Amino acid sequence: MAGEVVVVIEQENGSVKRASLESLTAGARVAAELGAETTAVVCGAGAADAAAVLGAHGAATVVTLDVDPADANAAASAIAETAGPRSPTLVLLAHTNYGKDLGPRIAGLLDAPLASDCVELSVDGGSVLARRPIYAGKAVVNVASTGATLVASVRPNAIRAEERPAAGAVQAGAASAPTKGLGAVLQEIVQAAQKKLELTEADVIVSGGRGLKGPENFDMIEALANELGAAVGASRAVVDAGWRPHSDQVGQTGKTVSPQLYIAVAISGAIQHLAGMRTSKYIVAINKDPEAPIFKLADYGIVGDAFEVVPKLTEAVRELKAAHA
Ligand SMILES: Cc1cc2nc3c(=O)[nH]c(=O)nc-3n(C[C@H](O)[C@H](O)[C@H](O)COP(=O)(O)OP(=O)(O)OC[C@H]3O[C@@H](n4cnc5c(N)ncnc54)[C@H](O)[C@@H]3O)c2cc1C
Repeated sequence: MAGEVVVVIEQENGSVKRASLESLTAGARVAAELGAETTAVVCGAGAADAAAVLGAHGAATVVTLDVDPADANAAASAIAETAGPRSPTLVLLAHTNYGKDLGPRIAGLLDAPLASDCVELSVDGGSVLARRPIYAGKAVVNVASTGATLVASVRPNAIRAEERPAAGAVQAGAASAPTKGLGAVLQEIVQAAQKKLELTEADVIVSGGRGLKGPENFDMIEALANELGAAVGASRAVVDAGWRPHSDQVGQTGKTVSPQLYIAVAISGAIQHLAGMRTSKYIVAINKDPEAPIFKLADYGIVGDAFEVVPKLTEAVRELKAAHA
């Protein structure tokens, strides 16, 4: 029987991040093909409360670790010490900030290769294949481990989370966290002033570019996003100008997003921007220049002045919602 599939789960007070349920779905599918068990590993306060939802999404075993998930060194050591003895074929994380921080540490501790930001996982002849975009999304490679274990992170929104109740009762276990080898001490976690919809997890994103001419004009982007229940993104030009925080930036040096719908308003479509959003399911571009490169990638394009188009679009969405209320 193949070694286990271990999925590292991100949670806050027992509430599991959707990106982790997506990773668990991917992991459970791989485990089913390998004939292996799926183990979910959860750190931090409230971890035990997550067991039911993890069991419903394919975890046969849930291991909780009494370690602060924000303390990456301690969390990675504890997870590696839990995963190692299970001789895992695959260790999965979500490609969130948490996963990006922990993944390389866990891979290092397990002496295993890391495939980051994967959009698909499959099994071929008993080994796990991880599919990941490279060269800013221009090419895609399949990665397999030459050793026994592969550590991989899954791009949020690339795989739909689905319920997959495990065959038997979910086994819960707790493991103690190691205290050795701490290279850093976590002193404080500063919460963002506003709890915003996380860009990488949003189903719909409305992004604005330099063509909006000033930060005040993001009000109309916010208004459209509000009607659509969307997150607001931005191009780097906008972030560099100080109109929006860096956490809003989409692209090669910002966030990689994969929503169902991405609306790019007054964004030219530079290759570095496309690198962060090209795997979106549907792309709508609003730009007054019919030659703007964004139109080459867009599924739907509106050639027009954003200052006319966006308020009309917002109104149309509002009316549609009212008609279906
Ligand atoms: C190493 C490196 C990394 C980078 N990383 C990123 C990254 O992560 N993300 C990113 O976005 N960029 C990144 N860039 C920058 C990138 O090359 C572009 O400069 C940037 O994306 C341009 O932003 P923009 O489309 O908002 O602005 P512009 O290129 O200036 O485009 C503005 C667009 O608005 C349109 N417009 C103007 N007025 C209106 C109007 N009234 N109505 C409708 N449309 C209008 C114009 O036609 C134009 O197409 C990077 C660059 C480098 C070199």
